[in-house]
Amino acid sequence: MRVAVLALQGAFAEHEEMLERLGADHFQIRQKKDLDTPFDALILPGGESTVIGKLLRDEGMFEELRTRIQNGLPVFGTCAGMILLAEKVEGGTPCLGTMEIQVKRNAYGRQLGSFYTEDKFDDMREPVPMTFIRAPYVEQVWGGARALAEVDGHIVAARQGNQLVTAFHPELGQDPRIHEYFLKMAASAGNIPSSTLSKAG
Ligand code: GLN
Repeated sequence: MRVAVLALQGAFAEHEEMLERLGADHFQIRQKKDLDTPFDALILPGGESTVIGKLLRDEGMFEELRTRIQNGLPVFGTCAGMILLAEKVEGGTPCLGTMEIQVKRNAYGRQLGSFYTEDKFDDMREPVPMTFIRAPYVEQVWGGARALAEVDGHIVAARQGNQLVTAFHPELGQDPRIHEYFLKMAASAGNIPSSTLSKAG
């Protein structure tokens, strides 16, 4: 399994460290020609969604990435990455818009801009660490999207087919379970040999 990490701006290096730890092959996407390298899954990191969105267009990657995601490329968006995938964005403009969710940017306001908590995620037995940094949350899911985690009544993770999003930053902690979850999801999306998956943890 080879995972592409969009490395235009933001916390991409931390995702790469996590993938490295899990033994997953990975490389950076910085410009359009990087899309010629075959890959099985894509990570859209946290950062500033307006900046990443603009750079995606400036680099001429926007249409191709959107088409690939629409065609089933497994994708994991964290924080700004989640905003990029949302069909509706309160406090911003939709970008790729491939996921049937509405997000609210900077949803926690200035006072509670950044915080840490632990909460339940999908069917995981133990709560997962969740670091929020000027984070959005999901106001609504519809169609094929479903909520995977909630904090204080707000949806902070969701999935639709091969698309996974978290409002928090699993790449900033030491707990690899969310990345493992994504790698398993991506592996079951294609015909990737299970030997590759077990290598990933
Ligand atoms: N507030 C940022 C945005 O609107 C997201 C913050 C983050 O990715 N940590 O894009």
